[in-house]
This record gives sequence, structure tokens and C-alpha cells, in this order.
Amino acid sequence: MPLRVGVIGVGHLGKHHARILASLPDVELVGVVDTNRPRADEIAAANHTRPLYDAKELAGNVDAVTIAVPTETHLEVARSFLMAGVPVLVEKPMTRTLEEADQLIDLAAKAGVPLAVGHTERFNPAVEVASTLLTNPRFIEVHRLGAFPDRSLDIDVVFDLMIHDLDVVLSLVHSEVTAIEAVGVPVLTGRVDIANARLRFANGCIANVTASRISRDRVRKIRFFQPMAYLSIDYAAQKVEMWKLVRGQGAMPSIEGGEVDVPGDEPLKRELADFVDAAASKRAPKVDGAQGRRALALATEITCKIDSN
Ligand code: NAD
Repeated sequence: MPLRVGVIGVGHLGKHHARILASLPDVELVGVVDTNRPRADEIAAANHTRPLYDAKELAGNVDAVTIAVPTETHLEVARSFLMAGVPVLVEKPMTRTLEEADQLIDLAAKAGVPLAVGHTERFNPAVEVASTLLTNPRFIEVHRLGAFPDRSLDIDVVFDLMIHDLDVVLSLVHSEVTAIEAVGVPVLTGRVDIANARLRFANGCIANVTASRISRDRVRKIRFFQPMAYLSIDYAAQKVEMWKLVRGQGAMPSIEGGEVDVPGDEPLKRELADFVDAAASKRAPKVDGAQGRRALALATEITCKIDSN
């Protein structure tokens, strides 16, 4: 029996949820929901499924849902599905506040169903390959820069863009953040458009994270320095480079390395496939509610530092 899945919110991102879920084996896309009726009709037609205009219409007809409505309604939309024992994937940022995130985590735990959070970069094949090569990063430099968007201007760049890298960094540095310095500047909107945070971890690692939505060039890079090795990830190109100091028999060590083989794939497809498998087998998804909350907590602390600066 295929897993019956519904997508709620088929705007910029949910449209891709619908496209991918319609193509996954062992999945039946039972419907797409959007309060914007023409949008629901358009995306349903493109994916040969039913348009619905209220998430309640999915009740009783789905085994799992993915939610890509604006963040302020994640809790409200997810609540009734979790209470009914339906596994949920909610887009990032998980919720507006940590209190809301705790409510979602509690509801999922009480119902005993998977709750996944859409931190898509974790499924980027370049990040997955790099995670097997990194052993002890001491310094991390992150740049996520983009041109001025026409969306998501109601939230700071920290919650919109930087949170992707905060989640990746937290997943690769196995240590607690002990100190944060941060600065953010509203340049074109009333919200923070460019931000930098310097994070110190208990194990001594430092991460310097920059996110901008007012840049001319699009950059999606993260660089790691660890003893005798340097590794860089280009998220967008799905490229990993690694260079290592190699001590041979001779007097002079050499530097060896170059591009590492990365099997290209669509990160969102991997994320949704992981969720579908987690929902079908009732296992924890790769990025669960606790990890979504962890990234949200760090983004919230950075924003507080920016506000107090
Ligand atoms: P969007 O505004 O383009 O789409 C949201 C859609 O939800 C709209 O079509 C809207 O009509 C619909 N909607 C609103 N309330 C609804 C409700 N109660 N029921 C059904 N439909 C409803 O927004 P977006 O850019 O697609 O962002 C959606 C979410 O995805 C946000 O939380 C955002 O942060 C996240 N996002 C994640 C990534 C990622 O890389 N993982 C990328 C972009 C956006």
C-alpha cells in the first residue's frame, strides 16, 4: 500500500514538495491544500491530484503531511495532524518561537509519531559527503549571500537564511555553543538584512557565519579548517574540496587533495524520501523536532544579541 501524503501550502517551496512527492515510489499524493484557491488548482493539476482549500479536508485521508505554509501558522496547521497521530514534516524555521516548537515536539511525542523539520541542506549530498571527512573542525567560515528577494521579508535574514548554516554547523561540531557575538544591519528593509555571528563552542571551535539578502552575488559556501586539513563545501554547486598536509619520508611535507567525488542529487528529494520512510516505518527522521528546535534556539539567541548590540 502506498503512503497517502498531502502537502499543505503550495507556494514557492510547497510546489516542489508536491512535484517530488508525486514522483516518489510508494507514495500517493492525495491532495494539495492552499487557501489561495487558484494556486491550489494550478499545483494540483500539474501533479494530477486533488486541490483542497482547507487543511481540515485532509483529515482521515492521509498517512502523513508536509507543511510549507508561512512560519507563523506552522504550529496551528501541524497541531491537529499530530493530535490525530499523523506524521508531520514542517518547513524551517520550525516555528516562530521556542514555546511553539516545544508544543509541536510534545504533541509528536504524545502521539508517538515522527516530526521532521525541513532543514534541506542537511540532505545536500555535498554536506553528507563532507560529514564523513570532517573529524575535528577548529575554525568554520560560512557565507550565504543572495540578491534581494521578493519573499520572506517579514523575517530577519537570521531566521530565513542563516538558520540553514546554524543547523549544519551544529550537526558537525559535536559541542555546545558557549559564547556568541553578533551584529545585524537593516539596510533595505526594517528587518535585519545582513548578519554576522561568531560562535564559540565548548571544545574551542569557532564558527564565523555571515548571511545576507542584499548582495550582488549568490554565494553558498562553508569552509572548515581542522588540524592538517582544509575542507570546503559549495552547497549550490554540490562540490567538496579537501586538502591535507601529508608527511612522507622526505624532509618536506606535501599538500595533497582536490575535489572529492559527490553523487549529485536534489536535497529536497532526499529530505522528503527520508520523511516518507520515517513515516512508513515510524522511525525518527534524520532532522527531527529536537534538531529543528536546536537551530531555532541558536537563531533566537543570535537575534537577541543583535538586538542588544
Ligand atoms: P509562500 O508564501 O511562497 O507559500 C506559502 C503558501 O501557503 C501560499 O501559497 C499561501 O497561500 C499558503 N497558505 C497560507 N496559509 C495557509 C493555510 N493555513 N493553509 C493552506 N495554505 C496556506 O512561502 P514559501 O517561501 O514557500 O515558505 C513557506 C515555508 O517554507 C516557510 O516556513 C519558509 O521559511 C519555508 N522555506 C524553506 C526553504 C528551505 O530551503 N527549506 C526555502 C524556502 C522557504
